[in-house]
Amino acid sequence: MPRPDLALIRQRYAFACGYCGGSEVSAGGILTVDHHCPMSAGGDDSLDNLVYACIRCNQHKYTYWPTKEEIKLSFRVLHPLQDVLAQHYRLNLQTGRLEALTETGRFHITLLHLNRPQLVRHRLTQQLREVMEGKLALLERQIHELEETITAQERYIAALEEQID
Ligand SMILES: [Zn+2]
Repeated sequence: MPRPDLALIRQRYAFACGYCGGSEVSAGGILTVDHHCPMSAGGDDSLDNLVYACIRCNQHKYTYWPTKEEIKLSFRVLHPLQDVLAQHYRLNLQTGRLEALTETGRFHITLLHLNRPQLVRHRLTQQLREVMEGKLALLERQIHELEETITAQERYIAALEEQID
């Protein structure tokens, strides 16, 4: 099976790691391609089996594939495009850490080290930026309203002055 074009895989994952979300920009270059089901476990080069992944996530996952016993325990690596990730873990906005909602989520986070200090810091920075952007937008709206009030009052004063004249 010919391997799909790297450009297509990158686009499919919005130029960011399917597992941790780290972008090409933050990595400073092209990321790697992970076989969700590794070749050693029968995985192939089909587009759905290829996950765009940063070097760290790829290293942590390596050739992991669950054994029959592990599958019974719901241990497996989530597929970024085929699993509903929000069912398995959520982001704690206060701590910047991913919190498991299922056993699968817990296993996935642990195997891929998705609470690496750098990722947590990045999530917190991102969160802070969003809060600040929200505050900035609010301030801009308030400034706009004040400017409108000032304009209206200036008009009112001008009208009063005309009456006095
Ligand atoms: Zn990653």
